Amino acid sequence: LVVLSGVNKHFGALHVLQDIDLEIRQGEVVVLIGPSGSGKSTLCRTINRLETIDSGEISIDGRPLPAEGKQLAKLRAEVGMVFQSFNLFAHKTVLENVVLGQVKVRKVARPEAEKTAHALLERVGLAAHAAKYPAQLSGGQQQRVAIARALAMNPKVMLFDEPTSALDPEMINEVLEVMRSLAAEGMTMVVVTHEMGFARSAANRVLFMADGRIVEENTPEAFFTAPRSDRAKDFLSKIL
Ligand code: ATP
Ligand code: MG
Repeated sequence: LVVLSGVNKHFGALHVLQDIDLEIRQGEVVVLIGPSGSGKSTLCRTINRLETIDSGEISIDGRPLPAEGKQLAKLRAEVGMVFQSFNLFAHKTVLENVVLGQVKVRKVARPEAEKTAHALLERVGLAAHAAKYPAQLSGGQQQRVAIARALAMNPKVMLFDEPTSALDPEMINEVLEVMRSLAAEGMTMVVVTHEMGFARSAANRVLFMADGRIVEENTPEAFFTAPRSDRAKDFLSKIL
């Protein structure tokens, strides 16, 4: 579904993505792990072209990433992204946060958009909070609104960049639960996370990044019990 081939990216002298080859299949949950600064966020951001690349190719569903304009906006709508910070519209209600993109980008009629929004809020366990403003919700609830908002665009793939890192421990699980159920329903997902329990239980594949390269690609089981690369062994010994 998502194919990267020979992708390179520099930030000045820093070679932040080095010859990345990656294929993410339909329905697959790929967890991206690696030390700080290894390029995980940058890799995610290139997939919906929040970052440009210097060489290589990225395609989604068989179509190369458009450079700009309408085609790019359309593609962005197909790639849902959830960040560490929730980035909700603070002065809009929860419902409106989930409605807006549908109306503005997908040109869905408002009554239908509201119906979809209510259904999605129900799905993330927030049906009772539709009329509230983001500031009236906990961090975990806000992140679940952010997930509902991304889903409202009917994405082909969802990218999660450390979605639980800014949350208090007791709220992490409610967000991971929503992600687990999405995975179980067959959503194609790329997840950057430090939640090793989630990686072990929900991932089909673990990619370990270091210094801008995918150093190891493994099943979660093998990655956590018998990592092949020294970099991964070293990393795991520090966090587990
Ligand atoms: P973390 O676990 O801390 O989130 P990461 O693996 O997501 O790290 P990236 O955010 O992708 O790492 O950053 C990779 C490298 O690129 C880092 O050295 C970072 O400082 C650098 N970098 C990221 N964004 C920019 C930018 N806009 N301009 C210059 N350098 C950048
Ligand atoms: Mg990051």
